[in-house]
Amino acid sequence: MKETHRGARTEALPVLAPADPPCERCRALCCRYYALEIDPPEDEDDFEDLRWYLLHRRSWIWVDDGEWYLQVDEECRYLGDDGRCGIYQQRPRICREYGVDPTDEPRCDYFVDVEKHDLEFREPEEMAAYARRFLARREAERRRRSAAAKKGWQRRRAARQKRDRRSS
Ligand code: SF4
Ligand code: SF4
Repeated sequence: MKETHRGARTEALPVLAPADPPCERCRALCCRYYALEIDPPEDEDDFEDLRWYLLHRRSWIWVDDGEWYLQVDEECRYLGDDGRCGIYQQRPRICREYGVDPTDEPRCDYFVDVEKHDLEFREPEEMAAYARRFLARREAERRRRSAAAKKGWQRRRAARQKRDRRSS
């Protein structure tokens, strides 16, 4: 009987194809957390919600290529002490499909030594500090655009007045 961490010890498991992840050599890394994509924050309220997530232990937020994710480092309740799945034949779709697509590189957590994200927030204070910088930058940009729009409007009005003076 071939076994991987995902296989219940009493079940006969399918033989892994060469493209399958090497679960038999892994500590069940993918069963020890879950991550959900979340909306990128836009305003103070959004940042307050993110700060609230981070108040919870084992929760953190990471960002890659502009996409934001909430990760909770909590293992699955069906992961056994021996690293095997306790509900192998009934495991959810997301578990069945994870890591088996050979076009998805790297295929699973096993192949990622140290995952470095563009941004990582592990403490509420980190998010609060980032929010202050983000909102200050956005406010400066809003003022710059507003000033540019005002100058453009003033220039157009001056040109119109000049034309009116010439034609009168
Ligand atoms: S991280 Fe990859 S190798 Fe490890 S258990 Fe999950 S799918 Fe298998
Ligand atoms: S259901 Fe099984 S394979 Fe899926 S996360 Fe839980 S222990 Fe892992």
